[in-house]
Amino acid sequence: MTKLTDFNRTIVALATALGTGSIAIIRISGSNALGLVSENFKGKDLRRVAPNTVHFGSILDNRTVIDKVLVTVFRAPSSYTGEDVIEISCHANPLIVDRIISQLIKSGASHARPGEFTLRAFLNGKVDLSQAEAVSGVIAAKSTSGLSRAIDQLQGGLSDKIGQLKQQIIEIISLLEIDLDFSEENIEIASVEALQKKLDQMISEASRMAMSHNYARLFDGTLKISLIGPPNAGKSTLLNSFLGEERVITSEVPGTTRDIIHENMLIDNTWIRLVDTAGLRNTRDHIEIEGIRRTHAQVAESDLVIFVMDLTIELSEEDKQYTRQTLENIKQNIIIVGNKIDRPRNKQTNAFLNNLGLPVVEVSARSGKGMGDLKMRIMKNIAGGYETFQDEIIVTSLRHRDILNRVSGNLSRAQEALAENKGFECVAIDLRDALDQLGEITGETVTEDILNTIFSEFCIGK
Ligand code: GDP
Repeated sequence: MTKLTDFNRTIVALATALGTGSIAIIRISGSNALGLVSENFKGKDLRRVAPNTVHFGSILDNRTVIDKVLVTVFRAPSSYTGEDVIEISCHANPLIVDRIISQLIKSGASHARPGEFTLRAFLNGKVDLSQAEAVSGVIAAKSTSGLSRAIDQLQGGLSDKIGQLKQQIIEIISLLEIDLDFSEENIEIASVEALQKKLDQMISEASRMAMSHNYARLFDGTLKISLIGPPNAGKSTLLNSFLGEERVITSEVPGTTRDIIHENMLIDNTWIRLVDTAGLRNTRDHIEIEGIRRTHAQVAESDLVIFVMDLTIELSEEDKQYTRQTLENIKQNIIIVGNKIDRPRNKQTNAFLNNLGLPVVEVSARSGKGMGDLKMRIMKNIAGGYETFQDEIIVTSLRHRDILNRVSGNLSRAQEALAENKGFECVAIDLRDALDQLGEITGETVTEDILNTIFSEFCIGK
């Protein structure tokens, strides 16, 4: 593990956001933390104070006072990282922070790398890997529900659930092993039927946990809806109406929104990224063609597509053909929005939209009529596509979801091997693989490369 962090280094970093404010906290962790700070601290000898105590004093550069500070002392192993840790609370001025850190570096501390404090907490067994990863989740959460999910994970909710699954696998493996030991004597320890049933249960549990990741997306601000449709249908006006203010320029000239515009909106406690796109139509204009290409790229990444049509205009056969073709090429869920119901509608267009075999919601983006209904349909479409996991532990990380999918694959293979009578050794191999994979979530069987990737995404000071 030395490649990841050198425990001989005592590391230092600003733990709070950089900028001016009332207080900034500088964190120092490592075997020499107390000595290093004491050298530069005028006040009590920090090497002699009781753990978990706070002390007032000054940080000095030679004899000059850099700042008056409060110093909190934690002793190994009862600290965030499991090492001796000191937190210096100083005035939040980047000049002060910089001078204090430089002073500690001069005395022999090293700058902490991204996530290095939490990495040390993991390596020292203070938290398991899924809890360490939850630290990022807690900081990045964008909704109260998302936050409470991340806190659950931080408190070990996911680890417990993974632990139970591991325990069940271990029990089956030991049954299989005992059975193998007694195979000569014709004593059946593990009933195939009972094992099949148990595996069934575990497979559905692992898949359900993997599936809960979709549900988690309702809270993490990554759901994406694209607004598409012909120029002048009212896409930008609809976006403005969702946001309740005039952020996007609307115009009578078709083809104005040539660039992609992203906005975030909150419906029912869910952050959704709305994307306004270039109008879709048959065109030879190069810039417009590029806009349409980008629109299709956006659509491919969306969770839901809202296809906006102007209900008041007559459509040519070519328009209808183009519309049908466009809709056929979209694999995502689609809601058709018939817009401009504040004006007399065109009967033919109305009938055409209602015969497309897709849900239609009629609105006036300009007056706001029908918008409540549209929001409800959006939420039903998005949330309805995901099972609800109200009181369950849910998997918020894509990495965990992929692992759980692999686990469920391995368990299914074990089940097949069992059904096909391939012998218990064969079944046990798949089960051991599943066990190792679960260990990648909690961190027992994870490689240094994976750890490197996970922690390099943290900020410095975390
Ligand atoms: P986009 O090209 O699809 O983004 O369309 P815009 O949002 O720019 O709208 C095109 C024109 O239709 C503008 O003049 C809007 O004011 C008008 N418009 C949009 N929505 C409505 C609506 O609900 N009712 C009416 N009467 N006009 C609308």
